[in-house]
Amino acid sequence: MLSGDVGNGLHSFAAKLYPICRSITGDGIRQTLNVIGERIPLQQFNVPSGAHVFDWIVPKEWNIRDAYIKSLDGKRVVDFRDSNLQVLNYSVPVKARMTLSDLRPHLFTIAERPEWIPYRTSYYKEDWGFCLSHDQLLSMKDAEYDVCIDSSLESGNLTYGECYLAGKTNEEVLVSCHACHPSLANDNLSGIAVATFLAKLLSLCEHRYSYRFLFIPGTIGAITWLARNQAGAQRIRHGLVLTCVGDSGGFHYKKSRRGNAEIDRAVAHALKHQNEPSEVLEFSPYGYDERQYCSPGFDLPVGCLMRSVWGTFPEYHTSADNLEFIKPEKLAGSLRLCAEVVAILENNRSYRTLNPFCEPQLGRRGLYRSTGGETIAEEINARLWVLNLSDGTNSLLDIAERSGIKFSKIYDAAQLLEQSELLSEGAE
Ligand SMILES: [Zn+2]
Repeated sequence: MLSGDVGNGLHSFAAKLYPICRSITGDGIRQTLNVIGERIPLQQFNVPSGAHVFDWIVPKEWNIRDAYIKSLDGKRVVDFRDSNLQVLNYSVPVKARMTLSDLRPHLFTIAERPEWIPYRTSYYKEDWGFCLSHDQLLSMKDAEYDVCIDSSLESGNLTYGECYLAGKTNEEVLVSCHACHPSLANDNLSGIAVATFLAKLLSLCEHRYSYRFLFIPGTIGAITWLARNQAGAQRIRHGLVLTCVGDSGGFHYKKSRRGNAEIDRAVAHALKHQNEPSEVLEFSPYGYDERQYCSPGFDLPVGCLMRSVWGTFPEYHTSADNLEFIKPEKLAGSLRLCAEVVAILENNRSYRTLNPFCEPQLGRRGLYRSTGGETIAEEINARLWVLNLSDGTNSLLDIAERSGIKFSKIYDAAQLLEQSELLSEGAE
């Protein structure tokens, strides 16, 4: 299903999106959606500035063409063309000549990491500023500078993208990622790349669930989507927020607010039966867009899959979260894990044994070992577990959890027993 060079494919897809100056509105996110739309069927939606979405208002649209701080000899000491992180995201336009001390309150650096540029935003308070490396700041003389931010903050639209893949039922699996960060690779592009490739894989096969992939600006995008799809959101049976899935860290899965939703159990099971280090975290009301999906009015079964957790790695929200920070093999591992979770969700169901009084004679049907006395292989053990627990009240995931056997083996056993007419599908 996943060929060896899928990691390179994911990485080069992230690399293609990396230079775009994204924000929560504007041409950058639309350009990003256009690139995603070259790979998967993607519909773009525009919601006008000023629209009320629950307790929030869709902000004005922000676009930027150029920004710099120039010394009076004409040399750009800070240049948006070098990195789109150099400008405070959502800065209002500025054109002025200022001294360094007047400029200083508008400059953001990280003193402890003097070579890195921080990523800062000011979406909901009109402001302007520059983000620069501390080394850049130290090299600036106490003199006058020409300061320019050639941006616009005007009435326009908030744009988001949706890829809907119809399945046999209209019950949905939601995969959501934020697409509003500029040149940041792990926090933003890794999730976008893995989600896009997962959607591509699903578009090539039949599935029971319908899948909805959202590429949205963080927070305001999820709130806007939920406000416009309040009724439709009730069809969501399982959901995942994907972000920070390309770095070298082990997996972290943050559970949904419900804490024991099928998605929580499916991800925990998939993590237990793979080789990388992993940790399952309890729900908390801070983080990514699971905050909105898990708000009490919705309480959707949506968890968040990450490798390193946001805010815990020094590269987070800095220029060091770059294309070297995300690794092809880690992106591929994240995609593989997502595909594993999808397989569990797709195949999880309950069966009833047609032979509840004592074990059926498996040997007669060629489903047991041929020589008595040998220990039984795991596949035979899986058959015994499925037969024993399939009384209509246990799902295959229940059986996988209780037996400690990998879900795919339990599923294979159930398929075989069904073909042998020992099992029939259906819950109590
Ligand atoms: Zn972020």
